[in-house]
Amino acid sequence: MKHFLIILILLTAISTTTSAQHKCKTDILVQRNTAEYPFIKEERQRINAFTERWIANPINQNSRTVVTIPVVVHVVWNSSIENISDAQIRSQIDVLNEDFRKLNSNHSSTPAAFQAIAADTEIEFCLAAFDPAGNPTSGITRKQTSINEIGETEDYYDPVKGTPPWDNKKYMNIWVCGLSYYLYGYAYPPGSAFPNEADGVVIAPHYFGRIGTAANSAPAHLGRTTTHEVGHYLNLSHVWGDGNGGCNQDDFVNDTPLQDVETYGCQTFPLLDNCSSSGNGINFNNYLDYTDDACMTMFTTGQKMRMLATLNGPRASLLTASACSVTSVRNILSETNAFSASPNPTNDELYIELSNQIKPGLTFQLTDLLGNVLQEFELFQDKRIAVSDLPNGIYLLNCKEYPMSVEKVIVSK
Ligand SMILES: [Zn+2]
Repeated sequence: MKHFLIILILLTAISTTTSAQHKCKTDILVQRNTAEYPFIKEERQRINAFTERWIANPINQNSRTVVTIPVVVHVVWNSSIENISDAQIRSQIDVLNEDFRKLNSNHSSTPAAFQAIAADTEIEFCLAAFDPAGNPTSGITRKQTSINEIGETEDYYDPVKGTPPWDNKKYMNIWVCGLSYYLYGYAYPPGSAFPNEADGVVIAPHYFGRIGTAANSAPAHLGRTTTHEVGHYLNLSHVWGDGNGGCNQDDFVNDTPLQDVETYGCQTFPLLDNCSSSGNGINFNNYLDYTDDACMTMFTTGQKMRMLATLNGPRASLLTASACSVTSVRNILSETNAFSASPNPTNDELYIELSNQIKPGLTFQLTDLLGNVLQEFELFQDKRIAVSDLPNGIYLLNCKEYPMSVEKVIVSK
């Protein structure tokens, strides 16, 4: 009996550990929808065939510049702790831009053998500056739902229970909403969502961003759950080839080594397995593995090409949209850092903070986009100015003595 109890306890522990390891269910959802809907299976085959053709002959690749994907974040919260702050959301956009542009601070820990294939994907992200009606926006929506763990029920896009997507041809929709404890997030690769409204990325609130509630979510506290899921959204598979893995299951990327199953924790190079049993071993530090956030460091060049194929094919409409063409809240020119203005967007006032490096007594102007001066004032110390009488829109705050220092200000009420 005693032995039986010990075995029972062990079995319980093992089953808990196993379920805790399903961080992402993207592959399960794709398998479900391709099995259930023949047209989705055909669309996925068509997209993957296009992807292979495009990578073999990447048209216009040499003349391409960095692209920016407009993002809208829908916070669908049940308990108030799920209603994460704007700052936490913006920290996630920062993580995406660092990771996708190879600007991540831990990039130097990429094993030397993998550095040659570590890619700057030349893909960036912005919080949308305009909503589908053309009005200025912070790129963030918020709604309280009565449904606990709405991401599990997949009602997150329901107009009543959750928040419907903004046109998902023009915006990458991210829903930040409750999921059961073991699940971090999921995304629909192009052509795999049903209904179409579900298309986008879904992330648990405490894994979104790297500050606020995310800061307590180690080892997934650095925002890389979303980096991983946006990889899926742009048609990357797990590096071990999805499903149960095995050496016959590939991720359709040439430069990622064959890999048996997912990796956990923080591993050291070289990490060998059944499928890559010598040499450099597996690319365990890839964003599309399950390694701890602190030890994920790279996409490969092959993964970059697959994502660019997506942006030249099934998701090309994201780049023709104008939601990012006037970039959202950021300095146009910030070389001098003469001052900062916050909050931005604002609905009533701006707090202008002077840099320590400049002398007081500077002249500031707030203008519209045509250069018409709406307010002019001298600043001897930090100051609040009222903007509540201005119509919604984009304005420029500039310092006459530092003409290169201009900040875009959005008034949104
Ligand atoms: Zn995944």
